[in-house]
Amino acid sequence: MKTILVLGAGTGGIVTARELSRFSGNEEDINLVKILVFEKEKTNVFWPSLPWVMVGKRKQEEITEKTNRLQASGLEVIKGEIETIDPENISVSIQGKQYKGDYMVVSLGVAQADVYNLDQFGHNFFTLKGAESFYSDIQKFDGGDIALLISSLPFKSPAAPYEAAMLIEDFVRKNNMANNTTVSLYTPEAGPMEFAGPEASQELRDLLEKKGIKYYPNHALTAVSGNKLEFSNGKNYSYNLLAYTPKHQLPHVIQKSPLAGKSGWVEVERKTLETAFKNVYAIGDITNITTETGTILPKIGVFARQQGAVVAHNIFRKMANQAPDLTFVPEGKYFIEAGEGMASETGGKFSNVGKNEVKMATPAQWGHFSKWWDEKFWFFKNF
Ligand SMILES: Cc1cc2nc3c(=O)[nH]c(=O)nc-3n(C[C@H](O)[C@H](O)[C@H](O)COP(=O)(O)OP(=O)(O)OC[C@H]3O[C@@H](n4cnc5c(N)ncnc54)[C@H](O)[C@@H]3O)c2cc1C
Repeated sequence: MKTILVLGAGTGGIVTARELSRFSGNEEDINLVKILVFEKEKTNVFWPSLPWVMVGKRKQEEITEKTNRLQASGLEVIKGEIETIDPENISVSIQGKQYKGDYMVVSLGVAQADVYNLDQFGHNFFTLKGAESFYSDIQKFDGGDIALLISSLPFKSPAAPYEAAMLIEDFVRKNNMANNTTVSLYTPEAGPMEFAGPEASQELRDLLEKKGIKYYPNHALTAVSGNKLEFSNGKNYSYNLLAYTPKHQLPHVIQKSPLAGKSGWVEVERKTLETAFKNVYAIGDITNITTETGTILPKIGVFARQQGAVVAHNIFRKMANQAPDLTFVPEGKYFIEAGEGMASETGGKFSNVGKNEVKMATPAQWGHFSKWWDEKFWFFKNF
C-alpha cells in the first residue's frame, strides 16, 4: 500500500487530500492508498470571508469548520505541528514521531510575522481574531481617519486589502459617518494587482477613487506609533483606526529544510509543481512560480486549489506507472467585493498578462452571489 503525506489542511491541502481520496480506489474495507494529512490548527477558516467579518457580515461560526471533520476514505488527519521535513526520504516528524511516505505534497501556506510592532497599534485582518477585533472597534467608531496598510510585499490575496477598503467605505456611509471619516490605503506597491497587468490594475484604482477612498501607492512603512504612520518617502499620516496585512514568510519548518529556495519560497517546476526532490510536490502560497512571460503568480486560493487537483491526478498516474499528463495552467478568476452587495469578477490567463488577458469586470450582484456560493460550497464539499 502506498502512503501519501499531505502537509497542511488549508486550501491546497484539503483539495489535494480530497482528490486523492476520490481517485484512490479505496472502499470501505479495501485500502489501496493511505493519505495522511498533517495540520496544526483545530479549525479551518475560509479566508476570503475575512473582509466580511471586518464589517460584521460574517461571524466566526459561519466561516470555520473543525479540521477533524475532514473525513474521506483512506484519509487520516494527524493533528500537531510538523517539526521536521526530510524531502530526500519523504518523511516528516510531529512530537518526535516519524511518518514516512512514498509521495509528499507540501501546502503549508505562509507564516505571518509582525513588523514595527504593528500588532500593538492596529488589527491584523489576515487573521480571524484581527478581523473580529477590527469589527469590534469600528462599531464604536464615531468618525476620523481609517487606515488600511500593506506592511510588506509579497502578501497573499493581493486584492483583499482593496476589497476590505471598499467594504469599510460602505460601512462608514451606511452608518452615517461619511462626512467626518476618511478611508485611506497605504501600500509599497506601485499600483493594485500589478501582476494582472496595467488595465485591470487601473480599473481597480479607478473604482477606489470613485468611492472616495484615498490611495497612497509607493508608500513603504518605516515606523508606526499610536496615531501616526511613517513612510520611506518621508511622508507621514495620522490615523484613528488601523487595519494591516502582516509580513509573509516561509514557515519555520520549511526555512530549516532543503526545500527553502533562493527566492525565499519553495521552487517548483511550474507545470508539474514537483520540487527538486523526486515525488515531492509543493503547491499554493508557499511556492514562487514565474510564468513563461515573467510574471510572478499571486498567492491566491484559486491557484492552490487547481494545483492540488493537478498534483493528485499525477500522483495516481505515477502509481499506475503511467506518465503524468496534467499540467497546471495559471488561469482563473476571483471576486472582489465592492460594497453595495456587489462584487467584481477578476481573472483570465495569468500567463498572458502583457496582452491584457486578465480583466476586471464592473461590480455586479451576481459577482457577490458567486463569492457567497464559493464560501457555502467550500464547507458543503469538504466537511
Ligand atoms: C483576507 C484574505 C482574503 C482572501 N481572499 C481570497 C480570494 O477571494 N480568492 C482567493 O483565491 N484567495 C484568497 N485568499 C488567499 C487564500 O486564502 C490562500 O491563497 C490559500 O489559502 C492558500 O492555500 P495554501 O494551502 O497554500 O495555504 P493555507 O490555506 O494557508 O494552508 C496552510 C495550512 O498549513 C498549516 N501549517 C502551517 N505550518 C504548519 C506546521 N508546521 N505543521 C502543521 N500544519 C502547518 C496551516 O495551519 C494551514 O492550515 C485570501 C486570503 C486572505 C488572508
